[in-house]
Amino acid sequence: MSLHYLPPLPLTIDRRRAEFTDRAFEDRFARHCLPERNAQLKASLLFSAGFYVLFGLTDIATLGPTATAWAMVALRLLVALAALGAWAAISRYPDSVAVSLRSTCIVLGIGVGVFPILCWYQPEAMAWNLMSHALILMAIYVIFPNRFIYALAIGIGASAVFGAMLLVQGGLRLDDLVALVLMLILGNALGYIAARRYHLAQREQFRSTMLLQELADRDPLTGCLNRRVFQSGLLDAELARTRRYGTALSVILCDIDHFKRINDTHGHAAGDQVLGEFAGLLRSVAREGIDSVIRYGGEEFLLVLPQTELAGAQVLAERIRHAFADSATSTANGSLVSTTASFGVAAVAANHSFLPASFEALIAVADEQLYAAKRGGRNSVRGTVVTAHGCPGQSRSMAPAA
Ligand code: GH3
Ligand code: MG
Ligand code: MG
Repeated sequence: MSLHYLPPLPLTIDRRRAEFTDRAFEDRFARHCLPERNAQLKASLLFSAGFYVLFGLTDIATLGPTATAWAMVALRLLVALAALGAWAAISRYPDSVAVSLRSTCIVLGIGVGVFPILCWYQPEAMAWNLMSHALILMAIYVIFPNRFIYALAIGIGASAVFGAMLLVQGGLRLDDLVALVLMLILGNALGYIAARRYHLAQREQFRSTMLLQELADRDPLTGCLNRRVFQSGLLDAELARTRRYGTALSVILCDIDHFKRINDTHGHAAGDQVLGEFAGLLRSVAREGIDSVIRYGGEEFLLVLPQTELAGAQVLAERIRHAFADSATSTANGSLVSTTASFGVAAVAANHSFLPASFEALIAVADEQLYAAKRGGRNSVRGTVVTAHGCPGQSRSMAPAA
């Protein structure tokens, strides 16, 4: 067996799409950014809607107070209304990435769909409209938070519709046509570069933060969580969940037997290897995303098992005990090292009438059980359900001491 380490975080960035290659990690990134994204989106929606309507003044100024001009103002109000609707939607569902993204795309879609209609009635203002289109591209690529590929699709689509509208309208001289095509390409190219750079920078920053967090929270030798988890409040949150939903919760405290002897006989490096093997075994039995494996001390580990009754935790501890006792670590100096471990289990039963005051109190009960297992001859599992007195109420041993 080789040393077990955690699989590396899926940190590769697909630079073409400017997103993490791993979909689940990209979703995690999106959820992480959501509060900031929504704040930015709300500001963009209000600002853009205001300006979109304000430009109705130019419609009136150019065309006079005609029916066409008022129809254009009405269209502008429609876009503003869509923006306000999107604002309301993201305020109502602040935790939904999908609502945030859809709102962005729908409002941009309506905005760039209405724009060529407005321009159609003001052919003499072609130069101004082209400039407005360039500013709209800036909003699409840079101002509105969006997925890079969506921004790209909307930007290119908007330019295609705008360009087609001018072509259908006709009357463009060759030099105007060349300038128009160049401007549309330039606007999208600059938008592409700026948006891609922004998306990549954001993800690189997130990647660094995740790596640092991983380094801070994980024990490098075993890949297990370290004791910082006690300061994070995660374990107390687990206890609070148990209280709220009346579910079961178990912890297993494990300690390798006579570990000091291994260090003394085979050297510290061999001891490290045995620690890695044991930790790998613990992680392999833990349910991903549910259980936690924490390096509690030098050769002591804590398994946190939500929604697990005493019986289930004891069966698991027995499985680990057997597997470890039956395994051997081949060390760098060629010798085979084999040892055992002892286990103390403490459990809160489902629909409990009593809960320990803190997670530390629960661990203290598991520690008493571990101590009993050690006193009983090691290589065994002892467990109990926590009771009001904090003392073993239903203590039982599942395996004879070796
Ligand atoms: P018991 O069965 O009663 O648990 O005996 P033990 O020898 O396992 O316990 P003891 O507490 O006497 O010794 C624990 C040893 O673990 C002492 C310490 O040097 C060693 N240790 C702690 N951390 C590490 C580590 O990271 N690597 C190695 N190789 N040894 C470690
Ligand atoms: Mg020990
Ligand atoms: Mg110990």
